[in-house]
Amino acid sequence: MKERIFLSSPHMSDEGYEMHYINKAFDSNFIAPVGENIVKFENELADKVGSNAAVALSSGTAAIHLALKAAGVGEGDIVFCPTLTFSASANPIIYQNATPVFIDSDYKTWNMDPVVLEEAFIKYPSVKAVIVVHLYGLSADMDRILNICRKYDVTVIEDAAESLGTFYKGRPTGTIGDFGVFSFNGNKIITTSGGGMLISDDVNRIEKARFWATQSKDEAIHYEHSELGFNYRMSNVVAGIGRGQLKVLKDRIKKKRYIYEFYKRELGELKRIEFMPNNDWDEPNYWLSSVLLPENIKPLEVIEALQKENIESRPLWKPMHMQPFFKEYNYLGTKVSEDLFKRGICLPSDTKMSDYSLQRVCEVLKGFW
Ligand SMILES: *Cc1c(COP(=O)(O)O)cnc(C)c1O
Repeated sequence: MKERIFLSSPHMSDEGYEMHYINKAFDSNFIAPVGENIVKFENELADKVGSNAAVALSSGTAAIHLALKAAGVGEGDIVFCPTLTFSASANPIIYQNATPVFIDSDYKTWNMDPVVLEEAFIKYPSVKAVIVVHLYGLSADMDRILNICRKYDVTVIEDAAESLGTFYKGRPTGTIGDFGVFSFNGNKIITTSGGGMLISDDVNRIEKARFWATQSKDEAIHYEHSELGFNYRMSNVVAGIGRGQLKVLKDRIKKKRYIYEFYKRELGELKRIEFMPNNDWDEPNYWLSSVLLPENIKPLEVIEALQKENIESRPLWKPMHMQPFFKEYNYLGTKVSEDLFKRGICLPSDTKMSDYSLQRVCEVLKGFW
């Protein structure tokens, strides 16, 4: 069996930074959701992206949930969400008993289409919040999206789970809207094995999120609760991994970009292949290199052929409005997301890949032409 090639797997630093911080947690016996690593991880990440405040949480999903809560989203409220995304963008809307309206993608960004968004506001002027996703490390058209959202005075939550390190017009994704969400799940550009972060320039709202995430414990020696609480905090051990990983974020982006450029060079000339969008406002983190195949080459057949070579790949995200669980909710658009899903494939973008591994992937793809 040939050596396995992963889509995107955890990649700890060669220097052992992560173990250094984990050991610090063990040595001080702070094996709990309090401790130095958490505070420092929050500060280091906030500094890196230039945000006023951050709270480390158990997952990116938890961060989206608390952002919605902080935006005042509750029972029956409408929230706009891109249809082309991972389900974790949309699930927290349901946790809050709110109602998602799914917005189509734009070919120019693969992300939320500002034209459809504008139509959505006309149809649902009472909307409470908008979730914008930066898929695969590509930024959404934030200026146009924000212009519309500011007109209607709604909270903008950036789901930057896939785009840590991406810049939009020189600004880090996650810091452009009212709230930013990052994920450190196993396949993300840096990982803590599992975890997330919620950031905002509004310190008070982050403090409130921290309070909810720690079971909403009021100031009292006995446990006093005047609000519903959640157990959403990150542990001090996990935060140590995050601190180590932050130190190599730059290297990971560099390698992801190398992978993208390798594919572009090797596959870019194939007839009617289309690479993921490349907008001049964008400085992506290249989390997953993705392409659209010509109509006559089915992504599932390519994925199967790669699998036979022990290579992992995936279709683009299946749109939420096509998911059995979300089918009953409204969707606005012209099926761009469905077309992307039908033709798209995420190529292995593992930062541990050698040129030889990249070549193995390219050979399988070229075989289809
Ligand atoms: C990974 C991901 C999330 C969820 O993050 P978790 O840490 O796994 O909960 C949310 N949105 C998008 C777009 C993601 O890719």
